Amino acid sequence: MGIPFINSFINKISAASTTKFWDDNWIGGNKLRILFPRLFRLEAVKTASIRDRVVATAAPTLWKWDWDRTPTGRTLTEFDDMCSLLSGYNFDTVSDSVRWALTNDGSFSVKALCSLIDDHLHPGNSNNMATMRNSLVPKKLEIFVWRAVQRRIPTRVNLDKRGIDLHSVRCPLCDDDLESVEHALIFCKHAFDLWERVFIWWGFDGMNNLSINEILRGHCPNSTSNLDKKIWQAVEWACSYLIWKNINNKIFRDSSWNIQVAFNEIQSQSFEWISHRLKGRKLNWLSWLNDPSVYLKIV
Ligand SMILES: [Zn+2]
Repeated sequence: MGIPFINSFINKISAASTTKFWDDNWIGGNKLRILFPRLFRLEAVKTASIRDRVVATAAPTLWKWDWDRTPTGRTLTEFDDMCSLLSGYNFDTVSDSVRWALTNDGSFSVKALCSLIDDHLHPGNSNNMATMRNSLVPKKLEIFVWRAVQRRIPTRVNLDKRGIDLHSVRCPLCDDDLESVEHALIFCKHAFDLWERVFIWWGFDGMNNLSINEILRGHCPNSTSNLDKKIWQAVEWACSYLIWKNINNKIFRDSSWNIQVAFNEIQSQSFEWISHRLKGRKLNWLSWLNDPSVYLKIV
């Protein structure tokens, strides 16, 4: 994700530290004996600690060395390189500590990391995990949709990007295009026809060129601002989830894609999921089938 997590924990060393000068990884991204091998060969005390090598930390830091013989030639070049690496080091005034470089106060928390990842995935915070929640559907749907919004469900194109060897990256249903997330969930003619039926079932003219993210966020075509979209969004999530399930059934169980069966499944599954979770109101099965748009007005 471009978050420099591995390098984000920084050892803050005090001048009195017993950290090994050559043998611990405290500066430069590696052990100094690896970074400066010629110099290390001249070190008289291979196990020297930082405390052994620092005289004073008041800028500029003073160091004391103990060489078997004076560095010359290429070893002197290494010495110069090491000095310039060390010159920027900022010692902790009190004691050794670990700071997390990705927050201002230097303390690590899972919560801070999660919000960093959210910000990274969704700059502007418009659809981070916190807003991809809908209490009317099972958790697995929330997770599925969240991954779909990030284009991270394992379509053939995504598997191929991860280096998984496939005989084809084309859509297993229509073979007309590559199986990207957009294709699988929306633009495949099979999925598209199903969506059209779902939109018409809910009283819309059709999908009206909504994008995949608009659909997953619960936009309605011609929506008014007062519309409570939660039930409609739950239906859209059920639809995308069941499309994905049907694609996998086709691949792994060799079952055929039948739009009527898929549509019936969306109607009954979404009814079951939503009516179990909807508080203070009952859904009516017949009006659910015949004119669910009345539920768009629920506040
Ligand atoms: Zn297709």
